[in-house]
Amino acid sequence: MPLEPRKILIVFDFDWSFVDQDTDRYVFEVNSIHLRRKMESLEDSVQWTDIVAMMCREGHAEGITREQIEHALKILPVHPAMIRAVKRLKASEDPKATFFCLSNANQVFIDTILKDKKLDTLFDRITTNPAEWTDDGLLVVRRKVDPNGPQHSCKVGCSPNMCKGEELTAFLAEHEEYDKVVYIGDGSNDFCPVVRLRKQDMVLARRDRGLQRRIDRDGEKAGLQCEVVWWEGAWEVEEQFAKL
Ligand SMILES: [Mg+2]
Ligand SMILES: [Zn+2]
Repeated sequence: MPLEPRKILIVFDFDWSFVDQDTDRYVFEVNSIHLRRKMESLEDSVQWTDIVAMMCREGHAEGITREQIEHALKILPVHPAMIRAVKRLKASEDPKATFFCLSNANQVFIDTILKDKKLDTLFDRITTNPAEWTDDGLLVVRRKVDPNGPQHSCKVGCSPNMCKGEELTAFLAEHEEYDKVVYIGDGSNDFCPVVRLRKQDMVLARRDRGLQRRIDRDGEKAGLQCEVVWWEGAWEVEEQFAKL
């Protein structure tokens, strides 16, 4: 009987991990500096997804079009090495990789970028904030977790709305066991799922960002078990993927 291929799960954060930018901020940097500035001034007092939803409404009222937002997403930097890395791994028979995107951006931003790069079939699941265009070109963004319903009970320090740790645990519970899980992330919100990984799993953590700071400060006391590999540029992720 032929050996079963190894099954691996690739979990991608999106902003500053899969892509080399922050989608929410970049869209407004391209289209409206004063709304971009407003995001900064609201950040400490308003929940982030609510800020993005609000900026979309204000931008729409000021005449920013759907085409302008889509254009910003299409020119947002995605490193060619990252595209090569995922395409090659997606095509591999052994290991057989499942791709899961876990992001605090939103469905429209992610789908628009993936479609433009002809990667719309890459992810087996995308868990993110729901969004949709209205007929007159307003992007309506909502939190993944309804602010009026029950909130996550995470104690690891996840911000309001999504706990990526709970989302990863739910995904794993629905699927057969993977031989290895590889998590690619950069932000402090990526720490919670990473502490749930096993010894045989791996985190590819981007240097000098929130995730590295959390791992350095809290990794040991949180019982972090998985292998930690640091990276700066997408070419290093490509290198790691080629070794899986
Ligand atoms: Mg990120
Ligand atoms: Zn959490």
